[in-house]
Amino acid sequence: MPTPEIHARIDERLEALYRRHLPMEDREVESYDPPEMERERDLFAVSIATVDDGTLYHAGDSDYAFPLQSISKVFTYGLALEDNGREKVLERIGVEPSGDAYNSITFDKRNNRPHNPMVNAGALVAADLVAGRDTGEQLERILEKYRLYAGNPDLEVDESLLDPQARSTDRNRAISYLMRSFGMISDDIEENLLLYGRQCSVRVNSNELALMAATLANGGVNPKTGEQALQREYTRDVLSVMHTCGMYDAAGQWAYSVGLPAKSGVSGGILVVVPGKLGLGVFSPGLDAYGNSVRGVKVCREISENLGLHVFADQAEDTLLQTAD
Ligand code: GLN
Repeated sequence: MPTPEIHARIDERLEALYRRHLPMEDREVESYDPPEMERERDLFAVSIATVDDGTLYHAGDSDYAFPLQSISKVFTYGLALEDNGREKVLERIGVEPSGDAYNSITFDKRNNRPHNPMVNAGALVAADLVAGRDTGEQLERILEKYRLYAGNPDLEVDESLLDPQARSTDRNRAISYLMRSFGMISDDIEENLLLYGRQCSVRVNSNELALMAATLANGGVNPKTGEQALQREYTRDVLSVMHTCGMYDAAGQWAYSVGLPAKSGVSGGILVVVPGKLGLGVFSPGLDAYGNSVRGVKVCREISENLGLHVFADQAEDTLLQTAD
């Protein structure tokens, strides 16, 4: 537990970081997705949670709850691993970056499976792999997990988000039916599409997102509640695919410049894990050409550089505190 002085000092630094990144030129933004997100264009939040006790530092609109979208893929993949074991999941979903956009219609033909669980094809199979008698039970089990990660028993699906996503669902439908024709996915496609759409439509705020990240940084245990959201043996697997595939087809650039396992969503959220140390949750809806949050990428790059967090940094700082001078 940091002393009040240290807490205030870190808050101050985070506020300064937030202010520095607040101005954003329109031309930097490629899109808002879905386009209605433009209404939320001025929202911006940065949150950090520590792994020791889940202490939160935040700046900006950290109370605003936005849909997880693709960030949900991380947690559902974790559950699929717990339900089926590593070997069976590997047979069905690869761990290679695709080099293509998250919603592209490409598969790992050699192994007859989607490239990885962070692209839509792989995420659809991961949802399909979650145990349950029907999609209602699968969804309940998925939500149960998300709540453990976030430390919020009230997380729910925002059903009003399903219709606006119809266009992306059409694409996911095409992916799913193709996968069924290849024998990559077996269950009821329409039900599975709804399940996936619902997991994408769970709203969290940036503080909760930071706690979800801190849970992954902490071997699957939520540092605030002490509850196990993911078995420790699978956190390694989840973090590995986040590291190589979490930022769409900009994953290589991200690994090079930020050097931390992360996952973004088209809502403008980014979840970043600093193993053994911190979880970051950032939210800002304007997206770049890859579909990653413009402000989010910049803020994460700065935090990683300033605190020496890159996994391959030659001189990593030990704590947030040391660098707060
Ligand atoms: N619902 C979106 C889709 O599947 C989520 C995409 C994302 O955040 N990249 O297309």
